[in-house]
Amino acid sequence: MQLLKSLTLKELRSGLGVTGRYFFRKKITVQYPEERAPQSPRFRGLHAQRRYPNGEERCIACKLCEVVCPALAITIESEQREDGSRRTTRYDIDLTKCIFCGFCEEACPVDAIVETRVYEYHGEQRGDLLMTKEKLLAVGDTHEAQIAADRAEDAKYR
Ligand code: SF4
Ligand code: SF4
Repeated sequence: MQLLKSLTLKELRSGLGVTGRYFFRKKITVQYPEERAPQSPRFRGLHAQRRYPNGEERCIACKLCEVVCPALAITIESEQREDGSRRTTRYDIDLTKCIFCGFCEEACPVDAIVETRVYEYHGEQRGDLLMTKEKLLAVGDTHEAQIAADRAEDAKYR
């Protein structure tokens, strides 16, 4: 039986049949970067720190995100302002440790730390992937419109 299969090239013809079937089907490969795959509003990309519309940073330095982070990637230092409010003096996320689990944004009571749709970034030195408070706020300022729209969309399903 095996000899007959070999002589008639049955397996080869069967394999070529599969190739032939898919050859004429619509291609599903995305031609990145000209084409982009759809993204969920819950996409977990680069982190950002958000501000309120009046420019005040949202983060109240409660440190819940730091505690919940399984990768110990977040470092926070804080102080009390003259008006009695508490704000961070340091807020770092080490992206070389981060596993993009999203726990930090889930834990945040004021929607301050979020993960954006941004995934096209890189670092050439280790320090480039240390997201400081200034860098995080800059990402938030740049993408606030998309972040707010995504949070509103996400809220519909909670
Ligand atoms: S996404 Fe996860 S691993 Fe990354 S900083 Fe947030 S809690 Fe930590
Ligand atoms: S980002 Fe949110 S959870 Fe983290 S310290 Fe600030 S307010 Fe608390």
